Amino acid sequence: MSPEKEWIAYVNGEYVPQSEAKVSIFDHGFLYGDGVFDTWCTWNGYVFHLDRHIDRLYRSIHAFQMDMPLTKAQFRKVVIKVVETNGAKNQYLKAIVSRGVGPRPLLSPIGCKTTVVVFSRPYLRLVEPGQEDKMIKAKITSLRRTPAQCLDPKAKNLNYANLVLAKIEAMNAGADEAILLDIEGFVNEAPGYNVFAYRDGALFTPLAENILLGVTRDTVFEIAEKEGIPTRAERLIPYDLYTADEVFLCSTAGGIVPVGEIDGRKIGDGKAGPIAKKINQRYLEMLEKGVHGTKYRTKE
Ligand code: PLP
Repeated sequence: MSPEKEWIAYVNGEYVPQSEAKVSIFDHGFLYGDGVFDTWCTWNGYVFHLDRHIDRLYRSIHAFQMDMPLTKAQFRKVVIKVVETNGAKNQYLKAIVSRGVGPRPLLSPIGCKTTVVVFSRPYLRLVEPGQEDKMIKAKITSLRRTPAQCLDPKAKNLNYANLVLAKIEAMNAGADEAILLDIEGFVNEAPGYNVFAYRDGALFTPLAENILLGVTRDTVFEIAEKEGIPTRAERLIPYDLYTADEVFLCSTAGGIVPVGEIDGRKIGDGKAGPIAKKINQRYLEMLEKGVHGTKYRTKE
């Protein structure tokens, strides 16, 4: 990437080349994971569900009792400026809002000045168009998802160590991805994904009680409704995944990712199933056509 083409980031009121974008080592996001974030994707020059992600980010900020220096309207302009300056049609966009830097003592949240960062990168698709048969292997990890009584996953917060360590456990066992159970043993979510299972003609997904409420999860509901596929949010146990006809993960960053194997058991016939394929196809069409999208000026 030549310097004049270097992508920019927004850091506390300034737009700077990403190589010069810096936050303090005393930032509470870095020191304590004390902050929140959100992730969007842009596709074909549209930001998908721009305002929905902004609303979720502002709910996370509110849950963390942080002062946000920007109104939603101001923040929206920042996001658009970042994606327009970076210019690509397909981008992965991330905003981080941390408690920032405060006076001593270090841990105290009092007097901290909120840090706001927005950046984007070229979008990397896990499942490229044409690769819809690609399957991943998952492991249900011994590590359980942090319960809402300790830190509610609905606030999309910087404490991802729980998820990262689960992913490492899964990878150590030869799997690609982790699926975590909650503290009671019910299926919860994956590092960066919500989980769906298809069985007996219906799509099942864990209840909205102890998970991040994914925008893609809602999009799957929306597509399923249009396709006449019944959906049910309920408590699921590992058996429900092992015996499902299909299992897939979904997220903004990864799209719809079919799971072919869990804990060494084939899911269905071990191949990407027709329901995951159909939902993926509809999802890609929505992104391509700008359904729920906010148009921005691209340089491509
Ligand atoms: N669950 C977790 C823990 C996540 O981090 C994410 C996305 O980053 C998701 C689920 C999926 O959410 P979304 O569809 O809004 O990207």
